[in-house]
Amino acid sequence: MNARILLPALLLIAGCRGTREAAVSPAPEAMPQLAWQGADAVLWQNTSAEAYWLYRQGYDQATDRLELRLQELDEQQQMADSAGSDHRPRAVIVDIDETVLDNSPYQVNAIRRDRTFDQNDWRAWTDKATAKACPGALEFLTHAEELGCEVFYVTNRDVRERASTLKNLVDLGFPFADDAHLLLMEGSSDKTERRARIRATHEVVLLVGDQLRDFSEAFKDRSSNYGKDAVDAMADSLSRYFILLPNPMYGSFRDAVEGKGTDAEKLARRKVWFQSHGY
Ligand SMILES: [Mg+2]
Repeated sequence: MNARILLPALLLIAGCRGTREAAVSPAPEAMPQLAWQGADAVLWQNTSAEAYWLYRQGYDQATDRLELRLQELDEQQQMADSAGSDHRPRAVIVDIDETVLDNSPYQVNAIRRDRTFDQNDWRAWTDKATAKACPGALEFLTHAEELGCEVFYVTNRDVRERASTLKNLVDLGFPFADDAHLLLMEGSSDKTERRARIRATHEVVLLVGDQLRDFSEAFKDRSSNYGKDAVDAMADSLSRYFILLPNPMYGSFRDAVEGKGTDAEKLARRKVWFQSHGY
């Protein structure tokens, strides 16, 4: 075959291949799309001085609130002492993820690999037990211990993550990092029963978390004004007993829009939400 025939033939083959590849190339996959839609939130959580300060500010506020609550309890108990009341040990309840341990490096790694949340990837991360403490968390909980409070860690990490979670907390120097003070998820992400178990034996002075559900399961329901009506209804209790820390990376706010299902379904629901909200 001479060059005059060969060249057009090759171009024809290349052209056909290009056309065929374009025709069969899959639509952009849902997983990388969905993963990268979380990039701003993860970038903010991992790098921003604003997030860093909000954590410090939150824990400063937690310290003030704790001292105030303990003072109130002391006064109440002094009055009740004449009636012979018993003194239950005092406790602070904290969530773990994005409350005392910073998992934003896991989230960065997931996006870098075009991946959404995956239980096996998550286990690989928690097995390393190398998460850093959230700003202000260690100082606050050390101070709570000095003030005579026990600390309970109520988390939706899986029971299989017990050893690595304790190792991570112990290595960072967190107080009460032991089996008795670590309440992991036992089937349900609803923390109500676990909080009740602590309240049965302890006076719970303050709770800290990155989700409103770390205070009450009532906040799982976002059907009424995205849960903001429930916040208004419980504002007094929230102000008095709960400190909320920032986490735009995941949580009930996102679940309310995405729902459950495949990444493609979640992505589709996100699109529907934005398309149906013209302002
Ligand atoms: Mg959390």
